[in-house]
Amino acid sequence: MQTSLPPSFLATAKAADAILRKCVHCGLCTASCRTYRLLGDERDSPRGRIYLIKDMLETSTAHPAIRQHLDRCLLCRACETACPSGVEYGRLFEIGRQELEQRSARPLLDRWIRRALRMTLPYPRRVQHLTRLARIIRPLLPRNYRDNLPLAPPAVAHGWPQRRHRRTMLLLEGCVQPVLAPAINTAAARVFDRLGITLLSARGCCGALSYHLSAIDEARGFMRRNIDRWWPVLERGAEALIITASGCGAMVRDYGDLLRGDPCYAAKAERVSALARDPCQVLMQEDLDPIRAATDVRPRIAFHSPCTLQNALKLTGVTETLLQALGFNLVAVQDPHLCCGSAGSYSILQGSLSRRLLAEKVKHLEALRPTLIATANIGCYQHLRQKARVPVKHWIELLDPATAPAA
Ligand code: SF4
Ligand code: SF4
Repeated sequence: MQTSLPPSFLATAKAADAILRKCVHCGLCTASCRTYRLLGDERDSPRGRIYLIKDMLETSTAHPAIRQHLDRCLLCRACETACPSGVEYGRLFEIGRQELEQRSARPLLDRWIRRALRMTLPYPRRVQHLTRLARIIRPLLPRNYRDNLPLAPPAVAHGWPQRRHRRTMLLLEGCVQPVLAPAINTAAARVFDRLGITLLSARGCCGALSYHLSAIDEARGFMRRNIDRWWPVLERGAEALIITASGCGAMVRDYGDLLRGDPCYAAKAERVSALARDPCQVLMQEDLDPIRAATDVRPRIAFHSPCTLQNALKLTGVTETLLQALGFNLVAVQDPHLCCGSAGSYSILQGSLSRRLLAEKVKHLEALRPTLIATANIGCYQHLRQKARVPVKHWIELLDPATAPAA
């Protein structure tokens, strides 16, 4: 793609220019784009959005319509995986979104809603109080909020293991996950305990919500605070930072890049990113016999692989292979690369599109009558639970007798 970006914003121009020049307009990415498949508008396809961003950067003007098309993007990065030319769509999109935010202010209500999300969701206590209140006033809420109101979490049957092993790893508990699905982290701690590894709790929001709502400085603040909290434990020999939510995992894997320009945190951020692991990566390296011995129920599973697991962490097929190695029966799922429509705050901010994407995804997941749906990200877990007729679990829960389905 030929470009003529003005030199006025040199900081981002080079990066954007390099990405744009790789695009050969072939359109192979469009088939993997859920918004294009749904809306049939080129401006809601990856290629169309690339053109819109290019035009904005070249002309230094932000046409009001561009915001609508960028806001509709799930940032699932399925297009990036499909692109034969290696166009880093996600990176270009973030550059474009930042430019747009700086050039044209959002309407007041939109800004207010986004600010409210940033002020509540990253803080577990606020999430807890808010969900309690929202359940009481549920009938009065607008549909987007009513539909996204989390169902009550399943009870946690057992607490964290008390044994202490020589091998330790950190476990990022996350912000909404301990409130909406506390059994996931407990199950992870119990599964790793069975393998002779103690998981030590690491608190804090990864910063993804702020980052994807364009509050970049706020996101960097979360990252720095997390590094300060986690660093002493990593220095004492924790082998890895386990992250059960693939969305948070993808964010932490980017800490090194995002704090590269900060002389105080760059080296530490790089190390934290290098130590971040999805639990499937660790389990694939361990002797699984203690887990096999502990669980005897093997339900038929439809596995929903989150976009962040596939396109950001590049772990397509790893969890599925692990579950099959443990004897689970995985049913085939149509279009497993397509997003469920959760996408962070997308289900709230783009409620109607998100509901359509969810309906189609659940139809595909339930087509072969699984006993349950398993996934690997708190956002997808919560979103799928709104519509699925079978139980939804994080896959790690299936490996712990306390949270696995009963025979
Ligand atoms: S992003 Fe990649 S797949 Fe899409 S049009 Fe450009 S080169 Fe083709
Ligand atoms: S990130 Fe997802 S929704 Fe956005 S353009 Fe790419 S495929 Fe489409």
